[in-house]
Parts: sequence; structure tokens; C-alpha cells
Amino acid sequence: MSAPRIFHNLIGGEFVPAQSGKTFERRNPADTRDVVGVFADSDERDVHAAVEAAKAAFATWSKVPAPKRGEILLRAAELLQARKEQYSRDLTREMGKPLFEAGGDIVEAIGMAQYAGSEGRRMHGVTTPSELPNKFQMSIRQPIGVVGLITPWNFPMAIASWKMLPAIVCGNTVVIKPGEDASVSTYNLVQCLMEAGLPPGVVNIVTGYGPKAGQPLVEHPDVPVISFTGSTETGRLVYELGARRIKRVSLEMGGKNPLIVMPDADLDLALDGVLWAAFGTTGQRCTATSRLIVHRAVAKELVDRIVARAQSLRIGNGLDPATEMGPLVNEKQVQRVLNYIEIGKQEGATLLCGGYRLTGGDYDYGHFIAPTVFTNVTPQMRIAREEIFGPVLSVLEVDSLDEAVAVANDVAYGLSSAIYTRDINAAFRAMQALQAGIVYINAPTIGAEIHLPFGGVKATGNGHREAGPTMLDVFSEWKSVYIDYSGALQRAQIDNAD
Ligand code: NDP
Repeated sequence: MSAPRIFHNLIGGEFVPAQSGKTFERRNPADTRDVVGVFADSDERDVHAAVEAAKAAFATWSKVPAPKRGEILLRAAELLQARKEQYSRDLTREMGKPLFEAGGDIVEAIGMAQYAGSEGRRMHGVTTPSELPNKFQMSIRQPIGVVGLITPWNFPMAIASWKMLPAIVCGNTVVIKPGEDASVSTYNLVQCLMEAGLPPGVVNIVTGYGPKAGQPLVEHPDVPVISFTGSTETGRLVYELGARRIKRVSLEMGGKNPLIVMPDADLDLALDGVLWAAFGTTGQRCTATSRLIVHRAVAKELVDRIVARAQSLRIGNGLDPATEMGPLVNEKQVQRVLNYIEIGKQEGATLLCGGYRLTGGDYDYGHFIAPTVFTNVTPQMRIAREEIFGPVLSVLEVDSLDEAVAVANDVAYGLSSAIYTRDINAAFRAMQALQAGIVYINAPTIGAEIHLPFGGVKATGNGHREAGPTMLDVFSEWKSVYIDYSGALQRAQIDNAD
């Protein structure tokens, strides 16, 4: 095991300790004997210093031509690519997902660096014909100012990149508060940006706990945009605090994602889809399948096969290339998942497999729970309605497509969804009717690509879409420009005017 690294805050291009001098430690969730890093335990003073540095950098960064800003991101993409293996190991060590999944996190950041970097050469506005003669009109995008980013631990490189890279290519500067359980990947991303030529102060990192280091960022009067990904509970607070200050707040929050299997589905395909969507990243994906809504005609066959596969998954330290499912991120998450398993039993659901903590040998040093499947789940049960964020699959049986869609929609959330069927009419009906920001047909609820809009409806999001072309709308301000070259006051302009 390597020695713990010390991570100071990054403020104005300098690595500085928290002003309080306090630190906190992060340990590998697969092996708590392994100290991953020691981080600044920041408070409001550190956040204020970071915002000042970002404000100072904004004056020059916002005037750098967008294609030049983009070139830095494109260079960073190459550095990320060259370091993918090392950064995957860092990511696995800090939050637990197996190496092959950690690699996916880095690949998303590379894709976003390429995509956002290329936006530097597009950043399209709109031109339209005018109602009046000799008048030209267009809308342009402008940077907004200092953007505050608050990220979770589950995709520590990908989510940081989805927010940071569009924000900076638009000409904003950034203060980021990563999830306290996985901050190393944010440093790795920013390291590549700095080596690629990002000027000091354009991105600032303040580590620490949410209420002490995240909230002052949300409340800071000089941070007009907040982009938050995390739980709905925290997101609601962030939204309220932002609203009081009339901020733009982009929220990506919880999910309770349904995967529907119809009787005509390719069950081999559905089996693989359910397995990886439910138990990949130990169920700690915002897009994880947590509800299997299966037609009664194929339920038993499919569920028996899922249970057999779940029981044979290789669970362990993600640094071992043979591992298929890693630990939960921390002890609090273990207790939360075990509590939901108890709730499921008390509600009368049938526990088919898992439902317990793994112990003995190396498991005693980690946060491991066996993949868990409940059947006889009804839509009213809490395990069918609330986000568990762990390797727990609730199976609900239905008799028709209409019932499947109604059950799928009968929750507070709406992030991802999926349907397996060979009937194209059923697929299109479901695609239209599912209340979700993302729908997959004959593919699991996971696997979003960065060049399509990403986000959810209902309690999952507030209408913004990060990633895809819509990402620019989160991080830029529209300005409409009218140019009258008639040389005279056009009377209709006054009569019409808003
Ligand atoms: P949390 O809501 O606990 O935390 C998210 C971030 O908010 C963390 O950086 C946290 O800091 C910070 N935070 C906590 N309290 C405050 C506060 N009062 N003010 C400002 N910031 C605060 O979520 P998790 O990190 O546990 O992530 C899991 C959740 O994220 C799940 O609900 C999941 O569905 C959701 N998620 C949603 C995604 C989406 O795109 N829709 C994608 C990925 C995850 P700290 O960690 O230090 O407490």
C-alpha cells in the first residue's frame, strides 16, 4: 500500500491548507487499512478565498477566445488518455468500483474534454430574420461569472468533468467542492487541465464536508450559478438557498429507475442488462436499475436466472482485476442499505438472495454487502419507491404494458428507464409514456453518452440538462442583439415592442 497523499485546497493556482489547519482522512472502502489521502477540512473562509481567486481569473479568462479555451480542454483529453490506467486505480481506491468501471469514468471525462473542447469552435448562437426591413438580429452566448460546482462520490471523475469542462469552455471560472469520499479524481482532472495550460484561478478546489464547505459556496453572493449532483434531499436545500439569491441552480438528483421486461423480450439480453444495471458500481449509480418490472409470464424464469448470476458475482477489492462488484462507499451507506433490507422484509417482500453483509477475511476491512433480490414487491412498498443506492433489486410483476408503464411512473423520481421487447409498437409507446429523462430500448438503464442531454424529471431534476448541446445553456447567458441599419426610427419597432 502506498503512503497517503496530502491534498491541500487549490486556490488561485496555489495548493494551500485549510485556514483552520484542519484535515480529514479518506480510507479505501474495500480495505480501510489503506489511507487514500489526507484532505483540507475547509470552511467558509476557504470558500471565500477560492471565490475571490475565481473572480480575479474571470476578468481575463472570459476574454480568451472560446476556440483557445477549447484547445486547452483538447490537450487535457490527451493527458487523461495517457494516464487512464493510473487514474482508474486512484478512483477505485477512493470509492471502490472495480477497475473496469473506473476506466469508464475516465473515458467519460476524456469524451467530455473532447466534446466541450470542440464547443469552443461552435458555441452557436441564433440568427433570425427580422420583421422589419434593414434590421439584423442575433443571439450570442456569454460567460456568466464564477460557477459553484458540488459533486457526489459515485462518478468522481465523470461528474466533475460534465460540470467543469462546459463551464470553463463557456468562459466562466469555477470553484468545485467534490464529495468528501472521493476528491482525488477531481485533483487528477484539474492536474491535466493545468498541464494543458489552464491559467491559475480558473478552477479552484475546496475539499471538505457538505454543510461546512459546500453550503457557503451555494450561499456566496458572487457565485451566480450552482451546479449540483447528489441526493434529492440535499438538492432541495441547495435549490432553496439558491432561490433566495436568485441564482441559476442546476440539479441532478436521485433515481428509482425501472427496467421493464415484456414476455416477447430476448431474456438472455435482459438478464445481462438487469445484472449490470442493478449490481454494477454496487448499485450506487444514479441510473442503476432498482426496480425490475417484469411480465408475469416470464418473471420466474428471468428472476431465477438473475439470482443464480447474482450469487456467482465475484465481490471484493476493485483493484483485483477479477472483481466484478466492489464495496459500498462507506459505513453509513452500509447501514442505510441494511436498513432498507430490513424494511423490505418487514413489508412482506420475499428475499431471494443476499440481504447480508459479507464478513470474514479481507471482507472484515471493507464495506461489502451481497447482491440482494426481493420478489413479491408491490408498488406501495418503500423498497419500490425510495432510493436505496446499493445492490438491492426489487422485482414487481405485471400483466400488461400499460400496467408496467403505470408502475414505472408511480414514483417521485424520473431519471433513467428501460424496456426490453421485440415489439416495436410497444417500445415506442413506452418511450413516449415513461416519465424519465432517459429511455433505453433493449439496453439497461445505464450507459449514457456525454453528447446527449443528461438529466431527469420530477424529483430527479429541475429542468436543466448537463452534457449534450444543452450543457451550454446551464453555463452561458443568452444576449439578444438587434442591429437597425435603416438609418431611421422604424415606427413598427415602437408599436410592437416588448
Ligand atoms: P449527497 O446529497 O449526500 O452529497 C452530494 C454533494 O453535496 C456532496 O459533495 C456533499 O458533500 C454535498 N453537500 C452535502 N450537504 C450539503 C449542504 N448542506 N450544502 C451544500 N452541499 C452539500 O449525495 P451523495 O454524495 O451521497 O451522492 C449520492 C446521491 O447522488 C444519490 O441520491 C444519487 O442518486 C445522486 N446522484 C445523482 C446523479 C444524477 O445525475 N441525477 C448522478 C450521481 C449521483 P459531502 O459529500 O462532503 O457531504
